[in-house]
Amino acid sequence: MPHTGKPENQPRPTPTVEDYLMTMYVMERDYGEIIAARLAEMLNVAPATVAMTFRRMERDQWLTGKGRHGVHLTETGRAAASSVIRRHMLTEWLLVKVLKVPIHKTHDEAHNIEHAISPELEERMRESLGDPQVCPHGNPFPGAEEVTRGWVPLTEVPVGEKVVVRRIHEFAENSPELLTFLVEQGILPGSQTEVIETLPFNQTLTIRLGEKQVTLGYPAARFLFVERAVSA
Ligand SMILES: [Zn+2]
Ligand SMILES: [Zn+2]
Repeated sequence: MPHTGKPENQPRPTPTVEDYLMTMYVMERDYGEIIAARLAEMLNVAPATVAMTFRRMERDQWLTGKGRHGVHLTETGRAAASSVIRRHMLTEWLLVKVLKVPIHKTHDEAHNIEHAISPELEERMRESLGDPQVCPHGNPFPGAEEVTRGWVPLTEVPVGEKVVVRRIHEFAENSPELLTFLVEQGILPGSQTEVIETLPFNQTLTIRLGEKQVTLGYPAARFLFVERAVSA
């Protein structure tokens, strides 16, 4: 029996619209607004395509563009977004745990599969995967955001403080080069690290992981969320 009481009577959006909804949900939640130009970049489509899809999505009541502050998801849009994000994250776990797909490959693979998963299968996945609260990259399931509340961007950590990496932001998952780099360097949820130098004029910081030192630019470091004061 499904554990959520939300209405499933609305027909599921097309895969394209689901991709939009998912990205828009995360944008609105984590950055406070939906920026069409950024969305175009992230979904790898032309701005005109985004405008056209927005019109269709508004017609189908997934979003509202009438507000003074740009585009927002409607309640139905948010429910549909939550649904596809849950399927995405459960698929990522299935790939990691059962099929041993490396963590930098799961996001793209999951994107191809998530649209085809029925509510019944989703529920089975949720149960057999132990009802996870975050994806393998540490991003929260919709409704489980509280779990990640105390984690701060790596850029906010003072030099010398020991921290544990907990989350690689969903939007970093969109960059295979960055994800591959992080995995190769061992910068993963659960990794212990310490900031040993910050160079604000250079927009870089250097962290230590075991014996190794890795320098990251601020844009990449902002995608990494860490837990502070773990074993103080
Ligand atoms: Zn993902
Ligand atoms: Zn993920």
